[in-house]
Amino acid sequence: MESECVSCGACVAACPTATLQEKTVIMLGQSEHSVVTTCAYCGVGCSFKAEMKGNQVVRMVPHKNGQANEGHACVKGRFAWGYATHKDRITKPMIRAKITDPWREVSWEEALTYAASEFRRIQAKHGRDSIGGITSSRCTNEETYLVQKLVRAAFGNNNVDTCARVCHSPTGYGLKTTLGESAGTQTFASVDKADVIMVIGANPTDGHPVFGSRMKRRIREGAKLIVVDPRRIDIVDTPHVKASHHLQLRPGTNVAVVNALAHVIVTEGLLNEAFIAERCETRAFEQWRAFVARPENAPEATEELTGVPAASIREAARIYATGG
Ligand code: SF4
Ligand code: SF4
Repeated sequence: MESECVSCGACVAACPTATLQEKTVIMLGQSEHSVVTTCAYCGVGCSFKAEMKGNQVVRMVPHKNGQANEGHACVKGRFAWGYATHKDRITKPMIRAKITDPWREVSWEEALTYAASEFRRIQAKHGRDSIGGITSSRCTNEETYLVQKLVRAAFGNNNVDTCARVCHSPTGYGLKTTLGESAGTQTFASVDKADVIMVIGANPTDGHPVFGSRMKRRIREGAKLIVVDPRRIDIVDTPHVKASHHLQLRPGTNVAVVNALAHVIVTEGLLNEAFIAERCETRAFEQWRAFVARPENAPEATEELTGVPAASIREAARIYATGG
């Protein structure tokens, strides 16, 4: 546990002699068939082959054709699947009429009839819009699709959402307003071509490890990394990978830091004018340029508020603007 190993299991998958082998294969035996599935632990969406013996998962092997992971995995998807058959898991339907009642195990028939009749009762009393559905960000696209189908076709309303939107709404709003699309505009693979990577308020090696590894690989090839985060996240300084700058801002001062970075780029004339002329609305861009150029947005002026030394902001901005 003290080594730099991240337990991704790649060595186990590659071992040609089965000297390294999953404990579960030793315990449960070789698999008989496999099912392709998606790891739902994080948004990377790695593809896996769930190797099965009957209905029992024997091991999870990352899928070489998976577009998000290309045969790679992290410890969560690769090894942390014991929940599938964990004794704490609720596998039988249960009903309680009130939150103070104890749960009562019932048949599927009774559970489905009860749920459906309660939906109908509430709609009959309070109107069609009185019920809805929300899916977890851990659900697959297909599961979320099914729930919206239930809501639109059976409930007859549009009260459907996914919790992914709750944590994603600020970024979704920003992206939609500026770029017209609330999803990421790049594929994971595009990081392979990056020369400078700026990570703001994310912790890829913990949160999205398969993408984190991909980013680390690119940084080892020479790309520069700027981390903007109050936390000293792993990627700031790990074996083989170091951030060229860690802008350790005070929580809540992201906008001031981004404006200060922009201030340096604009006032030092580091803009790529041709790129901007081709893509930006001239009037809106000029407004923004004039705003960030104001003295109160200079790194020296924001230093006290953000806690980030002006010199670091200036260096990071120059790298970001000129790095390629
Ligand atoms: S391949 Fe993954 S599990 Fe194996 S030693 Fe390296 S980091 Fe650890
Ligand atoms: S990075 Fe890890 S947790 Fe995220 S989808 Fe891939 S295997 Fe699952």
